[in-house]
Amino acid sequence: MKIAVLPGDGIGTEIVAEAVKVLNALDLKIEMETALVGGAAYKAHGHPLPEATLKLAKQADAVLFGAVGDWQYDNLERALRPEQAILGLRKNLGLFANLRPAICYEQLVDASSLKPELISGLDILIIRELTGDVYFGQPRGRRVATDGLFPGADEAFDTMRYSRPEIERIAHVAFQAARKRSRRVTSVDKANVLETFQFWRDVVTEVGLQYPDVELDHMYVDNAAMQLVRDPKKFDVVVTGNMFGDILSDEAAMLTGSIGMLPSASLNASKQGLYEPSHGSAPDIAGKGIANPLATILSAAMMLRYSLDQEAPAQRIEAAVKSVLAQGLRTADIFSPGTTRVSTLEMGAAVLRAL
Ligand code: NAD
Repeated sequence: MKIAVLPGDGIGTEIVAEAVKVLNALDLKIEMETALVGGAAYKAHGHPLPEATLKLAKQADAVLFGAVGDWQYDNLERALRPEQAILGLRKNLGLFANLRPAICYEQLVDASSLKPELISGLDILIIRELTGDVYFGQPRGRRVATDGLFPGADEAFDTMRYSRPEIERIAHVAFQAARKRSRRVTSVDKANVLETFQFWRDVVTEVGLQYPDVELDHMYVDNAAMQLVRDPKKFDVVVTGNMFGDILSDEAAMLTGSIGMLPSASLNASKQGLYEPSHGSAPDIAGKGIANPLATILSAAMMLRYSLDQEAPAQRIEAAVKSVLAQGLRTADIFSPGTTRVSTLEMGAAVLRAL
């Protein structure tokens, strides 16, 4: 098993270091190689995703990614900004499936803005299609309208489109993920209004026939947005398109209330994946040693589960994280009175002890 380790900028280096220690402690035969990405790579090599970094990522079974970005790069031309590294990796590795679990840890139940009884025990997985939909559909642009309500007026337009193979492959990811969980998939669409999403519903239903052991239901996106805050525990796996997934995955993430706890995975057709915390490089706290490394450590667990087929060690890491929370250890972002405040290094060390 070979992993490309790309810590990136800001707190990226601090939190990835802790995840690497955890992986090393597992006694698995994992080869890890580190490379620069984002602003750090721009500084050293003049590009946020240097050829050597991309080559390493392509050759690896998985990429463990920290975060990129810093205010000092905000005035660079778009192609050289640190964030372009993520888009470049997605494109070059063909990462089309974004998996974001939203898990409510019992000890952090008060961090949510929802009532404890609504989210206690929450464990859902949002799967977002990442490379299609209205975000990438052509044609798009600005023009002078020749028809519509205001002919002759300036207008802008985008194209929503999905092909059968694009829908089939994301549906397979959802059904297969459900098999590792509670075997329920909710496909979210807008089939009542959009042709693209009636097609989406038809194709997901067809793919579902190949998974008779997984229960499939369909929900309109407006209702899904409502149900996520009304009764989120009714969901197991939610699969949806790029734009609806963009919105719903942030909504679901915030159900748990703590950004430092949220891992994510982006997968391609051969299960190669990029694993990263859902948060950014947090330049405001970089170098202070107070960042929460748990989202990155949990991303490493997802990497073991989804790209390396190592379910048992993945569960060991997740159990270790639960155990340190039960011990009352908290980084500053999840601290509450009555718990013990620890640094990034101390949190990493506590996870190692729990392992
Ligand atoms: P951010 O997620 O970096 O930070 C938002 C807030 O959450 C900050 O107050 C930060 O201190 C806090 N925070 C985030 N992660 C934390 C952690 N692990 N522990 C404790 N506190 C944490 O978002 P932002 O401030 O909007 O963006 C900062 C930079 O990160 C920007 O350059 C942005 O482009 C970049 N960014 C990168 C990614 C990525 O690499 N995937 C994602 C989002 C933002």
